[in-house]
Amino acid sequence: MPQEVSKPKYRELSDGLYWTQECLPLGTLSELERFDLERWVEPDEDVHGCQNAYLFSDERNLLFDTLTQPNSEHVVELIDELLDGDDLDYLAISHPEANHAGNTFTILEAYPDATLLVPGEAAGYGSGHSAEHELYHIAAETPADVDQVPNEIRYVEPGDSIDLGTHTVEFEAPLFPDHSFTLWMSERTTNTLFTVDWMGFLHQNSNCVKTASELDRDVAVEQVFRFHALAFPWMRFGDTDAIERAVDDVRERFDPDVIAPAHGMVMTEDLDAYLDRFLEAVTALSREGERSNMESKLEYILRPPEVDQ
Ligand SMILES: [Zn+2]
Ligand SMILES: [Zn+2]
Repeated sequence: MPQEVSKPKYRELSDGLYWTQECLPLGTLSELERFDLERWVEPDEDVHGCQNAYLFSDERNLLFDTLTQPNSEHVVELIDELLDGDDLDYLAISHPEANHAGNTFTILEAYPDATLLVPGEAAGYGSGHSAEHELYHIAAETPADVDQVPNEIRYVEPGDSIDLGTHTVEFEAPLFPDHSFTLWMSERTTNTLFTVDWMGFLHQNSNCVKTASELDRDVAVEQVFRFHALAFPWMRFGDTDAIERAVDDVRERFDPDVIAPAHGMVMTEDLDAYLDRFLEAVTALSREGERSNMESKLEYILRPPEVDQ
């Protein structure tokens, strides 16, 4: 099975907002029986997992997340190309996981004037829990002494906003975090909600950097189910009423025009339909976590070993 991360692709979603995407080919359906994808993909079609990062090119420029280390060289090339010689002012990290933040130090070294914005919850406050926190030491070439990084490091919390000129981004408490450190981000002018690990799904190999409504086939509940079953293992034991309330909160409080996830395709139309598919997926997922289902799984796992007499 091919397992090489693709060179990042990109497109301009709206004036000055770039979506960059690297894909991980996961093989064809036959190699992926465990995913049970017949409902949305042709048997001979390769499927991709993906990792997205988003760049605002404005009076001040901001990159949200870093793509992964296999692309560390290409990431800096790509930022240079998209910023057309401008400097990067801010690098914002959603959470300190290698696939979101793995190129942090590479990017900071390339842009020594860029300010690193990291979730305060991740590093905590006070001495001993600041820039030297080992959670940020996840790049292949972490400087031996992180104090040598000349960049300013700023801890951000929900409610903190950054004025970029035309765009203003704000950090948000995530309604569905995959990590206790995760921060979502919103942007006012484009009314985009960056939901990090929430609302991801796999795509067909011919559909990279296509918005959800441009895909060859509609996004299926199965696609949404499989992704969240993997990325949010706790959801099968979640309180479905509470999850529904959180989705209502997304619809009412944020009411986004665009949902931009880290591991799926950007959604620009019919957002309610995708949120409904997520709720359907959660209902199916919660059945998987029911006691009888878990008991039969446990019985299987804890069955006595078959030993030759
Ligand atoms: Zn993730
Ligand atoms: Zn792709």
